[in-house]
Amino acid sequence: MASIATRSVVSELLSAKGVVPKKRFGQNFLVDARVADKAATAANLSKSDNVLEIGPGLGGLTEKLAQEAGSVVAIEIDRDLASLLETSFKPVENVQIICADILKTDLRALMEEKGWKTCKAVANLPYYITTPIIMMLLESRLPIESITIMVQKEVAYRLGAKPGTKDYGSLTVTVSYFSDPSIDAIVPSNCFHPRPNVDSAIVTLKLRPCPYSIDSEDLLFQVTRAAFGHRRKTLANCLSAADPTLPKSEIEALLTTLGLGAQVRGEALSLEEFVTLSNALGKAIEAKKAPNGA
Ligand code: SAM
Repeated sequence: MASIATRSVVSELLSAKGVVPKKRFGQNFLVDARVADKAATAANLSKSDNVLEIGPGLGGLTEKLAQEAGSVVAIEIDRDLASLLETSFKPVENVQIICADILKTDLRALMEEKGWKTCKAVANLPYYITTPIIMMLLESRLPIESITIMVQKEVAYRLGAKPGTKDYGSLTVTVSYFSDPSIDAIVPSNCFHPRPNVDSAIVTLKLRPCPYSIDSEDLLFQVTRAAFGHRRKTLANCLSAADPTLPKSEIEALLTTLGLGAQVRGEALSLEEFVTLSNALGKAIEAKKAPNGA
């Protein structure tokens, strides 16, 4: 039987069920089964793996995941597609379809209910909520081993960017805090129907504890958000504008002491440097708040 992720099966399914791809849900269906194979290979699946799939659509990727993994839970927001999937995956024992918004789903409860100790997230993500989904998965503290996603090529470059490049930003720092990212493949836009305007890429984020010792995660993320808030301003300017507790001159002195230079810009700092900086800022703020500046 032909794979679902082919042009002919996708058009057959759409016309037989009278389904029109919905732009508001970011529906661009995979029509090249080799891309589903690549995603499954990037996720390094085996029969002992549990997979959380986000946005199964017509099931092109789901089919491959079901073949490679032990069990798959696929969460689809679109009722029309979810009922279509229920029918087509009914005979497939290791697949469960849930009709829900991934951003409103209690994934911890879901994992508990399934008895999953760990899982891998795999998805061809809807473009309109790519970043919120990545952030939700990273910040969830769930035992997720890896996240393998198809995203717009530009987003893929941002996820794995190096300091000092135009793609480097607060998303990059957050991703590198939680994981090691790698770009596994570039996927041309003609592998999807309807064809999007831009190419995509398969990216894998391998989750791990942050390799640096951090005093306050909240402060680290406040600092990185502020650092990239105004890319034309110096880091000292951005930080003093975001929180007036420390005046700009004191932040500049701190940056100099840390060997970063008073005029440094946020985009020049690695994750390790952001951690060092936020630890030092935390201590300076505490000292300022303490009675008699002690
Ligand atoms: N996985 C399918 C494929 O590769 O052909 C479809 C991918 S399509 C880019 C994104 C899918 O995510 C669509 O099926 C869409 O309806 C679904 N989706 C959009 N927003 C969602 C949300 N908040 N929660 C769950 N699914 C969502």
